[in-house]
Amino acid sequence: MSFEIDTALQAMRDLCRFIPPGGLKDRERVEKDMEEMISRDYEPYFSGNAAMHLLAECQRCGRCCREVKSIAVYIEDCRRIARHLGLSQKRFMMEYTRPHSLKAEAVGSARLLRKREGEPCPFYDPLLPGCRIHQAKPQVCRAAFYLSKMNLLLCREEKEIKAIPGCPADDLLRERLAQFHSKIKDEPGVGERLETLFFSPGPEVDLFLLLLRLKGLEIYFGGDRAECLARRLGLPRLAHEDELRAGAMLYAAALSYGRPLSGAEQKVTEY
Ligand code: SF4
Ligand code: SF4
Repeated sequence: MSFEIDTALQAMRDLCRFIPPGGLKDRERVEKDMEEMISRDYEPYFSGNAAMHLLAECQRCGRCCREVKSIAVYIEDCRRIARHLGLSQKRFMMEYTRPHSLKAEAVGSARLLRKREGEPCPFYDPLLPGCRIHQAKPQVCRAAFYLSKMNLLLCREEKEIKAIPGCPADDLLRERLAQFHSKIKDEPGVGERLETLFFSPGPEVDLFLLLLRLKGLEIYFGGDRAECLARRLGLPRLAHEDELRAGAMLYAAALSYGRPLSGAEQKVTEY
């Protein structure tokens, strides 16, 4: 198990190549803007759920798609899905979307996928099973299993990191985490090491947590805003999901390892 921890730590050290010469720029102001997007009150649930999101693999069971009431789509979604379907953006928007039921002040340029009440999403195909446009699905669907607004509210209220109820992808991930924990139990001191890593983080873990939070913002809000924050920090780009996965596994294991999930304060390191 120490080997897994060392490998994940090495993956986090590798992320230090992202730091620009002279260190991260404007971090305090960027952190403040990130705080305005998602309050720190949601930590560690927001970052913990982002880690779970990176680790879980949607089983395309269609549960979300059958039960969803409405699906918001943003311009970026329309562009991506139209390309995926081989349609012009205009035609996609005319055929598959309608105006949002909420006022523009609340939802900006978001529209809704056309869908009859009580029926599944038009892109749900029970024979696949699952989403016909899985590779290009709307950002809200991508975020749905761990990073929907409703789920985050519940996580904070119940002080728990979790997915939407009944998600088989989450069940599989919980099994992996349980196996991870049972290995830790057999090695004295490893559990404590894991906890110390994230609750008194050194520079590489601190950078990982920043990149993970940015990734969470990308999943939650879509790419543009998170990319803008990354540029302001002087980062060449947002980290890719596979670059964060080894650290995400450790973080998810640490959060679910015999420690209350509330009040996990993290030290901020200046570069
Ligand atoms: S319930 Fe989970 S596995 Fe099923 S479609 Fe939704 S996210 Fe995927
Ligand atoms: S777009 Fe795809 S993932 Fe989203 S609700 Fe429809 S079928 Fe499900």
